[in-house]
Amino acid sequence: MASHPTNLHFVLFPLMAQGHMIPMVDMARILAQRGAMVTIITSPVNASRFKSVVDRAFESGLKMKILELQLPLAEVGLPEGCENFDLLPSFAHIVNMVLAMNMLEEPAENMLKVLCPPPSCIISDGCFPWTNDVAKRLNIPRAVFYGPGCFAFLCIHIVTSTNILDEIDSDSEYFVMPGLPDRIEVTKRQASTWGRGDTIESTKVFERMVKAEKDVIGIVVNSFEELEPNYVEEFAKVKDKKVWCVGPVSLCNESFQDRAERGNKAAINAHECLKWLDSRAPGSVVYVCLGSLSYASTEQAIELGLGLESSNIPFLWFIRQTSEEFEEWLSKEGFEERIKGRGLMVRGWAPQILILSHQAIGGFVTHCGWNSTLEGISAGIPMVTWPHFAEQFLNERRSLEESKVILKSDDIKEAVKALMKNDEEGVARRKRCREFAVMAKRAMEEGGSSDRNMTSMVQAIIEELAKKPTPIQDIV
Ligand code: UDP
Repeated sequence: MASHPTNLHFVLFPLMAQGHMIPMVDMARILAQRGAMVTIITSPVNASRFKSVVDRAFESGLKMKILELQLPLAEVGLPEGCENFDLLPSFAHIVNMVLAMNMLEEPAENMLKVLCPPPSCIISDGCFPWTNDVAKRLNIPRAVFYGPGCFAFLCIHIVTSTNILDEIDSDSEYFVMPGLPDRIEVTKRQASTWGRGDTIESTKVFERMVKAEKDVIGIVVNSFEELEPNYVEEFAKVKDKKVWCVGPVSLCNESFQDRAERGNKAAINAHECLKWLDSRAPGSVVYVCLGSLSYASTEQAIELGLGLESSNIPFLWFIRQTSEEFEEWLSKEGFEERIKGRGLMVRGWAPQILILSHQAIGGFVTHCGWNSTLEGISAGIPMVTWPHFAEQFLNERRSLEESKVILKSDDIKEAVKALMKNDEEGVARRKRCREFAVMAKRAMEEGGSSDRNMTSMVQAIIEELAKKPTPIQDIV
């Protein structure tokens, strides 16, 4: 257990998207390892994805549990079971999901009212601004968690709180983002998607999020100070809030099972996967996974497959969703036969952190979701970045490989070959990556920056509770 035990009761409300739920469940474990009681509130399908991990934590003595709240899917026109962004029939259904999540305010409040022991603090996703009103009514301090790191959030803050985009005429020309410690260029098209809604409903939620943020005791971020020191400082300054970087939270998963089952049931037997990797030379395999939401068109998937094949580099490629068309192409080409012995293609969920920590992995082709970026950094693996949407174009700037948008098979081949090269540049890059991995690990160790930030967050909650009429709940 950490050196600063606590007996507070945390209630966590993760957004129903893998890139938000997974780090929040990790955070729950880190808090529970300090002796806190942690209740995660989510919907049944999402609860089932984390059940084994949470049950195992509970059996090992950690006070962690999940409580279920039903999302009113039928009321917003979503099919049964569509309880996570990765289960939505299309991107167009995001707005229905936002509406359903917004309707959780009353049932969640009723649940919290009878929770025993009563919550000492709510940590909820920024996309659930209604938790702020619930927290206020029940007199519970609230901290907010967002998916991305401080760099991305500072950029989003600048774009949403100024009229900078109105001053830019061209959609595709790069401009320098003002107010940043470094010179960062983006296009108006990329920046237009950050922190803004494209429907009336989502715009309303964004406005409510900004308002709700004013009341929080602080902002919890899955990052570590050493990775983006200037941005942590600047982000705290512009928000006028405490910012606690408590990551990379993925590093709290130490056991084989927890790594193998993190986030969902893997589409490959973890032992088989490791066996395949064990048979490869250290640092020889490129791992390809584009996160939990991005979708590659059939044409793009074919280009990717051909690019990987022609690179002549061993690869482990996880495809989230395939299409009938792509499957037909695969069988017509005999693609899987052709790559046998050198490449492995798996349809479905990857045990990502288990894979990244294997010594055979020498490179990572990522879509630049913040979690994947941070997991690549924590594993000390160089990355080729292929941003798809939202703030991924920003995360790319913080990763350790030069930015590269890959489209054609030849480009993919060249990018992968460059990534895996062991020339002077490649060796220097690997060394830099390993240094960052060491920093990440240190941050999470006892006395490291993220450990100290967690202590500081707990302390802030205790101070906040002391100001309130009700005494701190003792759960021990
Ligand atoms: N992930 C995984 N297996 C997969 C796809 C994703 O374990 O097949 C995990 C990944 O390790 C990360 C999260 O899901 O923790 C995805 O979050 P990220 O921010 O990288 O991207 P998003 O999916 O939100 O676009």
